[in-house]
Amino acid sequence: MSLDDALINFPEVKNKLKASWKQSLEGKEYVQNIEFNVHDKKIIYEVTSSLIKNSQNNIVGAMHIKRNITERLKTENILHEGMHELKDKNEKITLLLEMSDVMLACNSINELSEITAKYCGKVLSFSKGVFYIMHPSKDFLEASASWGSPISNTSNFTQDQCWALRLGHIHHAGFSETELTCDHIINNVTEEISYLCVPLRAQNDIYGLLYVEVAKKEGEQQLTSNERLLVNAFAELAALALANVRLRENLSFQSVRDPLTSLYNRRYLEEFLIKQIHQSERTKQPLSVLMLDLDHFKRINDVHGHDAGDLVLKQLSQLLINEIRPGDLAARYGGEEFIIVLYDTEAQTAIKRADNIRKSVSLLHVKFGAQDTGEITVSIGISEYPQDGKTGSELIEAADKALYVAKNTGRNKVVPFSEVQLNLKISTNKKSTVEKEHE
Ligand code: GH3
Ligand code: MG
Ligand code: MG
Repeated sequence: MSLDDALINFPEVKNKLKASWKQSLEGKEYVQNIEFNVHDKKIIYEVTSSLIKNSQNNIVGAMHIKRNITERLKTENILHEGMHELKDKNEKITLLLEMSDVMLACNSINELSEITAKYCGKVLSFSKGVFYIMHPSKDFLEASASWGSPISNTSNFTQDQCWALRLGHIHHAGFSETELTCDHIINNVTEEISYLCVPLRAQNDIYGLLYVEVAKKEGEQQLTSNERLLVNAFAELAALALANVRLRENLSFQSVRDPLTSLYNRRYLEEFLIKQIHQSERTKQPLSVLMLDLDHFKRINDVHGHDAGDLVLKQLSQLLINEIRPGDLAARYGGEEFIIVLYDTEAQTAIKRADNIRKSVSLLHVKFGAQDTGEITVSIGISEYPQDGKTGSELIEAADKALYVAKNTGRNKVVPFSEVQLNLKISTNKKSTVEKEHE
């Protein structure tokens, strides 16, 4: 289309061009764009003005070259957008790789949550959402990180409240009228948003859920194919990292816990005592060690069977955990022997607390099927840092000696090592008096 044809209905553009001619004839050279609409289509012409001069260097005219650059500009824009998209995609891939490295080095779920909170906003910046982690009990999912202040932000929900978890694959909703909305989405928000629930699945298990929310765009694609790819890649990497952390946590739990009772094992107790003694030495605070042994436990096994015996050990362990403070420690030392370490507790208080434990144990009723395992009692020996021992093994040895006395003087009782020493002194004194009398 020629410019004249194009401008037939646009006198104001013609006027603008006339003004350009005038400007050129006054000696100005320039390049300018003229924009106007024809049948609702934007047309852009580039006008280049050059002067025509005679041999005396006087301006005798001007030349205007007009080019329709509408298509060229369109192509340039597309190229520009493509370049921008490519750059953004590269940046996101670099971020994903960086995130994957950091996530795989995480040792705990807390660490992983912090890392996720940092990256989800960057990698999934085109959306808002929440990163949910499955509770180890598998009963519910907990929000661990969120980005972009999503409209629907439920803090926890059960598996059956989410279609993605029920069906075992990505669930889209709000993209079309027919889709089902999950129960964990707050009421009516699908009028404003479209969302994706992506199960975080690895090694045939579900470790969490990625909830991605975008503002609803009528009649348009809600997420570009690149954005979908990013959501999927993010979910896959996060699922692998979650599985990895859970595996690490399980391994470290198993290495320090007794499998039957879940109490700390002997190895952990010994390390704990070394640290705790150092701390008591620094802070000059006392520390007490209680050694417990079930009375006539063999009888329970003999009468009710080994499984009933196991159940007694488990229930007793739970009782011990309930009886101690969070900073104290309960460990299974051997078969039916347990050790409790009470921090900042001198012997007199330890005796009272040990006696409370002894009384609670005697009230414990363990039912194994229809059988009642009968009265359960414990004997307890106590030692105190620093007077009864300077090291963990010295303290355990002293508590063991006190326990031995408790067993030999009737069972179901608490004996502190100081009492054993006192009796030893008295009997030594008595002995030497008798020896003296003999002399
Ligand atoms: P005492 O009052 O002198 O301590 O008598 P006791 O019967 O408790 O002590 P003894 O050392 O004679 O027996 C301990 C029993 O504990 C023997 C062993 O079979 C049982 N035992 C050790 N570990 C376990 C376990 O993991 N499960 C079960 N069911 N029994 C265990
Ligand atoms: Mg024993
Ligand atoms: Mg015993």
